[in-house]
Amino acid sequence: MKNRTLLMIPGPIEFEPAVLAALGAPTTSHLAPNFIEAFGQALERLRELFLAPDGQPFVIAGTGTLAMDSAGANLVEPGDRALVINTGYFGDRFGALLERYGAQVHHLRAPVGGRPALDEVEAALRGGAYKLLTVTHVDTSTGVRTDVKALAALARAYGALCVVDGVCSVAGEELHMSEWGVDVALTASQKAVGVPPGLALLVAGPRALQAYQARKTPVANFYADWGNWLSVMQAYEARKPAYFGTPAVNLIFALNASLEIILKEGLEARLARHRALGRACRAGLAALGLGQVPLSDELAANTMSAPRFPPGVNGPAFLAEAAKAGVTLAGGLHPAIRAEYFRIGHMGSAGLGDILATLGAVEAALEACGHAFTPGAGVAAARTAWRGA
Ligand code: PMP
Repeated sequence: MKNRTLLMIPGPIEFEPAVLAALGAPTTSHLAPNFIEAFGQALERLRELFLAPDGQPFVIAGTGTLAMDSAGANLVEPGDRALVINTGYFGDRFGALLERYGAQVHHLRAPVGGRPALDEVEAALRGGAYKLLTVTHVDTSTGVRTDVKALAALARAYGALCVVDGVCSVAGEELHMSEWGVDVALTASQKAVGVPPGLALLVAGPRALQAYQARKTPVANFYADWGNWLSVMQAYEARKPAYFGTPAVNLIFALNASLEIILKEGLEARLARHRALGRACRAGLAALGLGQVPLSDELAANTMSAPRFPPGVNGPAFLAEAAKAGVTLAGGLHPAIRAEYFRIGHMGSAGLGDILATLGAVEAALEACGHAFTPGAGVAAARTAWRGA
């Protein structure tokens, strides 16, 4: 019997054997030629993944929150104005950290499961003299996807830097960093990038670096200061060693292995697969009579789903039953609706088999919790939606 469940939460996800093998290999010096080559390659591949030929990648030991912190610390000076496009928990987090660096933060919110309309965003930007606009591409607390392309265009039109929290989107949702005019995009290793937790990944575009260079005050965070890391990233990309803080050697080998897999699949194919995963999962859930947190299908992410519990189903009991049926799912996160829904991650290397196993476990858990539905309907609908994808 397998001594583990299928991990279908919105990060960490299940990782490829080649990635785990890289992580488990004997650690080399951070100055060893094979590490220098792997780090250099990973930086080049990140530029490809973010579609940011003119961007500067940073790979720093830490989590997604460090990547957000690094964007805030390096771009905000006391008194700067920031507009947060807030679609959930991680919008709140971005606002809080920007305030810590002295920003005057205005949150543009929508009802839970929605996203602010573009004309509201434009109206806010018009009068706002904002230096920064932050967007959560997929807010993991709601499963809502924002229209980054349109928001970045608005930010550009009104002279604000556009910072995208892509922790639940990069490598699973479409993001053309340079072409769309995104100034900073960031993620963490443990989601669609497919590497165990521990790396903060950020790409800064030319305008973001200029804003950093034009600062009048020092960055109020020593570890995250781009000035400490820029020459290190440039050195490794030029296949030379450098040091500021010891690189997470094994995680960077693993990152390089995962980026190789991602780019070999091809971004187009990978995004199409994620769209099919999202469609199949939502179709399966709908066939079981479950609603979703996003207010419409067009707002729903492809990297995760946020289904609502049917009336009478107890969340913790449901999740325990799903685990008994072999699949680990996540509970709610958004404070306003935490007990009303659960979350399924379907990103990285996930395929139809993972969705079918997940929906099978959801059916088993619903049955155990007394919800009436047509047995097998979720699995059947997912297969149909996948075929039609
Ligand atoms: N932003 C989003 C959209 C996230 O989903 C997460 C993690 N769930 C974070 C930021 C923070 O990342 P981490 O937990 O790696 O600090």
